[in-house]
Amino acid sequence: MLVPPFYDPLSFETLKVFLSDVAGAISLPIVYYNVPGATGIRLTADQIAELGEIDGIDYLKDTSGDAVTLTDLIVNRSDKIKAFNGWDTLTFFGIASGAEASVWGAAGVVPELAVELWETLAEKGDLVGAREIWRDLWAISDFLESVTLRDLDSGAETVEPGVLFVLIGSEPRTDWAAGALARDRWGFLLTGERLLEDDVAPRWPLERPPALLETSTPGVFAAGDVRAGSVKRVASAVGEGALAVTLVHAHLASLTRAHA
Ligand SMILES: Cc1cc2nc3c(=O)[nH]c(=O)nc-3n(C[C@H](O)[C@H](O)[C@H](O)COP(=O)(O)OP(=O)(O)OC[C@H]3O[C@@H](n4cnc5c(N)ncnc54)[C@H](O)[C@@H]3O)c2cc1C
Repeated sequence: MLVPPFYDPLSFETLKVFLSDVAGAISLPIVYYNVPGATGIRLTADQIAELGEIDGIDYLKDTSGDAVTLTDLIVNRSDKIKAFNGWDTLTFFGIASGAEASVWGAAGVVPELAVELWETLAEKGDLVGAREIWRDLWAISDFLESVTLRDLDSGAETVEPGVLFVLIGSEPRTDWAAGALARDRWGFLLTGERLLEDDVAPRWPLERPPALLETSTPGVFAAGDVRAGSVKRVASAVGEGALAVTLVHAHLASLTRAHA
């Protein structure tokens, strides 16, 4: 399965070059993963069928949520590309419309029920029986397409996001600094002007203001994710690390001057 690069949407012409290059380099049949919410590339049925003309691009996982385009592809263009539904809450619709497969999150949660729906709807053509099974499956599929966020201060909220980026692991390991370096309520180290705010402990001890990355202990600097208020990205962590070295040199120079 092949998904276009994220972040900067490719033009249709560039997308065709990208898919042709990959298809030319391997001998396996390829499923084009159509997920406009993540890639920013929203295609018409005509364009998707055109992708199917590239040698090696044989299948489509359609996670556009666009039932009209999916139907058009299944009904009119299956000679160009074989479309599988990839949008959970459209599974019944996709199978009933003739999709030969569904790529389906709920099938990983309740596989027996998913197989039962496939057998009842696709194989037996029992529409009434399939609707009964779908009622439960729809609830699970719908649940998987929403997110419940829990704000630790104000309570829970359910949202239906277009895309979801989960950032895990943002937990500073600063227990060792408790009482020695000032931290915010999540444990990130306070630096620079933040140290001059009220209710910070330990207090900044000197008359001169703290340097940009300096912690509440003069001459100790913090850089990267562990620093309160930093941008949690690789490039900024590296940049702060480089800046911290410069600040250490400046601090050592000031000590040398003081002793001279
Ligand atoms: C899931 C995820 C996805 C991300 N995706 C991106 C992305 O796509 N692009 C991007 O720019 N950024 C991304 N980030 C953020 C990026 O990884 C961080 O901003 C960056 O790694 C921060 O670098 P750092 O050096 O400050 O901290 P870290 O990389 O966390 O390094 C800190 C190191 O210190 C070690 N350590 C901790 N406590 C101690 C101790 N007491 N003694 C010794 N060692 C210790 C840790 O084990 C760790 O190795 C992502 C982060 C996560 C969690």
